[in-house]
Amino acid sequence: MNNHLVVVGASLAGLRIVEALRREGYAGRITVVGRETEWPYDRPPLSKQFLTGDWVDEKLALRRGEMSDLDVVWKLGCEAMALDTDALRLTLGSGDRLEPADAIVLATGAHARQLPFGQDLAGVISLRTLADAHSLRSEIKQAKRVVVVGAGFIGMEVAASCRAKGLEVSVVDPLPAPLIRGLGPMLGERVAARHREEGVAFHLDVGVEGFDGAGRVSAVRLSDGSRLPADVVVVGVGAAPATQWLEGAGLEIDNGVVCDATGFSGRPGVFALGDCARWENANYPESPRFEHWTSAVEQAEVLAKRIIHGHAESHSPIPYVWTDQFDLRIAIAGEIRDGDEMKICLGRIEDDRFLALFGRAGRLVGAVGFKRPRQLNACRKAIAEGISIKKAIATHSEIAG
Ligand SMILES: Cc1cc2nc3c(=O)[nH]c(=O)nc-3n(C[C@H](O)[C@H](O)[C@H](O)COP(=O)(O)OP(=O)(O)OC[C@H]3O[C@@H](n4cnc5c(N)ncnc54)[C@H](O)[C@@H]3O)c2cc1C
Repeated sequence: MNNHLVVVGASLAGLRIVEALRREGYAGRITVVGRETEWPYDRPPLSKQFLTGDWVDEKLALRRGEMSDLDVVWKLGCEAMALDTDALRLTLGSGDRLEPADAIVLATGAHARQLPFGQDLAGVISLRTLADAHSLRSEIKQAKRVVVVGAGFIGMEVAASCRAKGLEVSVVDPLPAPLIRGLGPMLGERVAARHREEGVAFHLDVGVEGFDGAGRVSAVRLSDGSRLPADVVVVGVGAAPATQWLEGAGLEIDNGVVCDATGFSGRPGVFALGDCARWENANYPESPRFEHWTSAVEQAEVLAKRIIHGHAESHSPIPYVWTDQFDLRIAIAGEIRDGDEMKICLGRIEDDRFLALFGRAGRLVGAVGFKRPRQLNACRKAIAEGISIKKAIATHSEIAG
């Protein structure tokens, strides 16, 4: 025994696993290696309050109490370059090798996907880190026109934040409505309508062919031949797991580090959680990788038990994610697919306050709440319990009455 545990990634998943390990009674040495120089900070506000307000960095801190309580050696601003899964040793960007560990926890998250063009132009930004958020915040101070490429969660949040700051905002996406993958077409269309009411313009069902500009971006060229003038372009085309550095380490990597339902990679002593990991999930045979805040936090509790006791109960969560756009707080539990039946309870779509229940083969599989946080939590439980869509509708109609 080396009495040493190494965590790679010093963000939400990395911090929460350390806290959970200490709570579970792990008394050995812990080293955390993180590429960013900042103490662990929260990413969700980066596309919301951090852009619209004048938040200082400290407000994003993920841990309120003293960091020293955790008794961790923090190696911040330090990139892990390779992992020797036999010796359980990590090689850093400096060439140094860390002392062998009894367990390595991979918590390297995800990075923003890029388009194959335009990365070298000033004014083209993707949003994943605090440094990106600072760049974007300073760019939009001087800008008039922002084009957001990609109508997913981050793109739509940035669009709402920029519009709230008074900028002219256009959103471009090849799909016919925003947030289709999270909300389905009908509710996605409702979100678009809300954005339009606020003055956001949409270019949907159309691709982006390239950017114009010499040194700095001046316009976005669309596949229908049109051109959108832009002072700033935000590229929000999704994220990919940060696992390239693990190539050749002997781990199964397939859209994330493939793990069992307790975070074990199958390689002795190697575990993963958060955005970089794909845990087996009895509720979803394809074991999707969730890029959700709640997922990382819940996995940390399970994984700490798994590491310390050598076993933990299998974790098969129903995913949960929220997004804030203008005054809308939208929360989603479960997964919505094409062809699911949808029933609106507890309000009306046009009032932007309701609960939408989604059924497939007679079962409740998903729920979306527009300003309905309490009911959505109950639905998440109900989906896990496998209740019928009929019963879910009856329950929520009764509450409404
Ligand atoms: C702008 C934005 C808004 C979001 N809003 C929401 C929201 O409203 N609701 C929601 O549910 N979720 C939201 N999310 C998603 C949520 O923030 C993530 O699910 C969460 O951050 C995942 O935590 P993580 O620790 O797994 O990964 P990350 O937060 O990505 O952290 C991984 C860390 O590992 C570091 N790292 C990577 N590679 C290496 C390496 N080789 N060596 C050392 N360190 C490395 C990275 O630099 C990073 O600091 C948002 C994300 C973003 C970017």
